[in-house]
Amino acid sequence: MAPAHKKQLLFSEKDAREIALEEFGLTAKAQRLPGYVDINFHLKGDCDEEHVLKISDISENEAGLGFQNIAMEMIAKECGELFCPVPCKSLSGKTIVKIMSPGRGGSMRLARLLTFVPGQLMCDAAPHTEGFLESVGSLLGRVDRALEHLTHPAMYRDTVWDLKSASGSREYLGDVASRSSRTLAEHFLDMFESLALPVLTCLRSSVIHNDGNDYNVLVKKSPGKGLEATGIIDFSDLLRTQVVCEPAITAAYAALGKEEPFAAAVAVVKGYHSVFPLTEEELSILFPLVCARLCTSVCLSAHMHSIDPENEYILASEKRAWAVLHRFAGIDPGKAETAFFDACGLKCPPATGACTGGGTHPEKMSKDEILRLRTVHIGSSLSVSYIKPIEMVRGFMQYLYDENGRAYLDAVNNVPHVGHCHPKVLGAAKKQMAALNTNTRYLHDNLVVYAKQLCSTMPDRLEVCFFVNSGSEANDLALRLARAYTGRRDMAVVDGAYHGNLAALIDISPYKFNGPGGKGAPPHVHMTTVPDGYRGLYKGTGREAGEMYAACVRETMKRAADEGAGTAAFICESFMGCAGQIIPPENYLKTAGRHAREAGAVFIADEVQVGFGRAGTHFWAFDAQGGEPDIVTLGKPMGNGHPLAAVVTTKEIADAFDTGMEYFNTFGGNPVSCAVGMAVLDVIAEDGLQKNALETGARMKSGLEALMERHAIIGHVRGAGLFIGVELVSDKKSLEPAASEAAFVVERMKEEGVLISTDGPLKNVLKIKPPLVFTKANADFLVDTLDKVLADADKTGKHQDRHV
Ligand code: PMP
Repeated sequence: MAPAHKKQLLFSEKDAREIALEEFGLTAKAQRLPGYVDINFHLKGDCDEEHVLKISDISENEAGLGFQNIAMEMIAKECGELFCPVPCKSLSGKTIVKIMSPGRGGSMRLARLLTFVPGQLMCDAAPHTEGFLESVGSLLGRVDRALEHLTHPAMYRDTVWDLKSASGSREYLGDVASRSSRTLAEHFLDMFESLALPVLTCLRSSVIHNDGNDYNVLVKKSPGKGLEATGIIDFSDLLRTQVVCEPAITAAYAALGKEEPFAAAVAVVKGYHSVFPLTEEELSILFPLVCARLCTSVCLSAHMHSIDPENEYILASEKRAWAVLHRFAGIDPGKAETAFFDACGLKCPPATGACTGGGTHPEKMSKDEILRLRTVHIGSSLSVSYIKPIEMVRGFMQYLYDENGRAYLDAVNNVPHVGHCHPKVLGAAKKQMAALNTNTRYLHDNLVVYAKQLCSTMPDRLEVCFFVNSGSEANDLALRLARAYTGRRDMAVVDGAYHGNLAALIDISPYKFNGPGGKGAPPHVHMTTVPDGYRGLYKGTGREAGEMYAACVRETMKRAADEGAGTAAFICESFMGCAGQIIPPENYLKTAGRHAREAGAVFIADEVQVGFGRAGTHFWAFDAQGGEPDIVTLGKPMGNGHPLAAVVTTKEIADAFDTGMEYFNTFGGNPVSCAVGMAVLDVIAEDGLQKNALETGARMKSGLEALMERHAIIGHVRGAGLFIGVELVSDKKSLEPAASEAAFVVERMKEEGVLISTDGPLKNVLKIKPPLVFTKANADFLVDTLDKVLADADKTGKHQDRHV
C-alpha cells in the first residue's frame, strides 16, 4: 500500500476540478483537504456554493460507501442539512461514481460529491469549556439516536477500530519505542480485557459513527451561547457495534490536550447521556473503554509511523494520547466509574461495578465490619497500619487505591518491586498458571533457567539455589545450611535486627526478643552492636567507623568461642531495615564477613529487604559494601508480591547440607513462581530500574537533606538508592528520639496521600522504600509533602501531645 501522504498526491486539484465537472456537472475551484484514508477536495462553485469531493481508496467497496451515504441521509433528516454532509447525485443519477486515477496504469476509484458542512474543526477552536464538551457529547448522542434503527449489509466490519477489538492493538505494541509507555498500554489493555470486555459483549448494539475525534467534529461560536458543536463529518469508520463505544471514543479524543483530561471525558459522557441515555452497565465500563481507545490510537500510530515515518497527520494525536494515558494511570477505575455515574445523575452501585473488581461479594462490607470480623477471625497479635486504617482495593505501579478510589503514592512497600500489578509479571503468572503448576520433583525448564539467571547476578562462587516461599523460610534454611557446614549451633546477630517470623528466627531477631513480649536473647545467640554511624558507638560513614564496628563482630565471635563452641554464622542485613534504615559505614560488611570466616563461621547476608537493585549502585546491597557472603537470602521483592524467596550459596555448603535427609519444599521453585521471578528480573533490566533507584533515590535524599535546614526535628537523613531513612530527634545534641512526632508525621503523610512508615528500635525513623518505578516527580512530591506536614506540625505543636 502506498504511504497515505503519497497516495494523496495521486489526484491533483486540477483532476478534482475535472471530475466535479465531468461526473457531477459542477464548475468549481478545488482545494485539497487533509485525509487519513480518503482523498478529499473542497470545491467552491461560481456562486460560492461549497461541496466536498471524496475519492475513496480502492479497499472501500461500493456497499460500504452506500452504507455511509444512507447513514448521512438519515442523520441529516433527523438533525438538519447543516449537521452532516449528504451525498449529491451525479449526472447519471448515482451517488457513487467510478473513476480512474490519472496517468498511465491508473486504477479504479470511487468518487462521491458531498454537501459541505460549515463550521470550524473542533481541533482549531477554543476554548473547550465543560459546556462545549457536553455539546460534543450530545452531538454524537444525536447521531446515534438517528442511526438507532439502521441496518445494512455492510454494517459489520472486522477492524481494530471497533472498540471491542481493541486487544488487536497488542500486535503493534512492539512498535512503541518507550518501554515504560508500552507497559502502560499493556496495563490498560489488561484492564479492558478483564473489566470491560466480559460486560461489553452483552450490551446493546447499533450503527454508530465510531470516530468522534476533534478533526471530525465541526463547531460554531453563536452569540450568547459561546462555542458549540454543530456538525459531524467523515463516516469512514461507521459500523454496527456496542453503543457505549461511541461516548467512550468521543470522550477519549476530547481528553486530548486538556489540562483536566478526565473532566473533559466526563463532560462528553454527560452530554451524550442527556440525549441518548446510557445504561448502568454501559457507564460501569466506560473508563476502561476510553483508555482502550487511547491505547489503540497510540499503538496504531506507532505502527503506521514505523512504515510511513514522514506522515505528520498520523502522529497528530499520538503525543497527546500518551500524555492522557499517563494521567489516567493515576485515576482509580472505581472512582472514574462513580464520576461517570454522577455526571449522568445516576447512583453508582457500591463496589459491585465492573471497574472496582468488587464483583465477588454481593454486598460491599463496610470498613467497620471488616475491622469487627478481624477481631473475631484474625489473630489479635496482627496490627493494622494507621490510626484511621485504610482499606486498599487496587494497585498500579507506585499507586494504591482505597475503597473510595483515592490514590495513594506508595513510598513504603518494597514487595511490589517493579510496581503493583505489573502487567508483565501478571502475564507471566497467568500464562504459566494456565499451563502447569507442580512441584520440583518433576523436570521443568523454569526451575533451572531461573536458578541460572539468579546466580548470574551473584559472585561466581554463589552458584547453588534453594527456592522457598518467604524470607523467613529462606533465613531458616540458611541457619540449617550454616549449622550443617560448620557443625556448630550458635549465631552472631546485629542488635535491632529482624530476620523472620519462624521460631528459629525470633531467636536471632533482637528486634523481637528485645521488643514487646520478647524474652531476651537465648543462650545460643550473641549480639553485636549495630553499625549506626549517627547514633551508635562510632560516628560517621567512613572506613574507620566501618572497621571499628566490624571489630565488634570479631569480639562477639571471640566471646562466643571462649564461652562455648563458637558460632555457626554471622547473619547480617546488608543494609539494616528494622534497626532503623541503617547504611553501615564503609567496609563494615567486608571486614565483618572476614572476621566471621576467620572465626570458623560463615557469613549470611540477608538481602530479603534490600536486594534486586534497590541499592542503586549495585544489584545486591552486599556488593555495595564489598561484602563477600557465603550464603545470601532473598525474598520480598523477588516475586513482586507472589510468595517467592530463595537461598543462594556455594557448592561446598550446599553439599555439606546433603546429609541423606532430603530437603523438599512443596511450593518452593514451582514453575509459576519461577516464571514470576524471571519476569521480575526481566522488568528490572528492561525498565532500567536499578538506575532509576540510583537517580531517583539521590534526588529524594538531597531533597530531604535540604529539609533539615528548615525543620530542626530532622536529625539525620541516610540512604542508598531507594532505601532511605529520616531520623527525627527532639534534641540534636542528646539525640532524644522524636517517636510520637514520627508517628504523627506518618499519619499526616497518609492523609496527604503519601504512604511511609516508621522503624528503628526507638520508632523515630521515617522509613522510605518505594517500588522502584517511583519517579523523580514522585520523589519531589514526597519531599514537598513532608515539608508541608512538618511545617504544619511546627505551627500547631500538635505532634507534641500525640501519643500513638
Ligand atoms: N529478613 C528481613 C531483613 C526482613 O525484613 C524480613 C521481613 N520483614 C524477613 C527476613 C522475613 O521475611 P518474610 O516476612 O517474607 O518471612
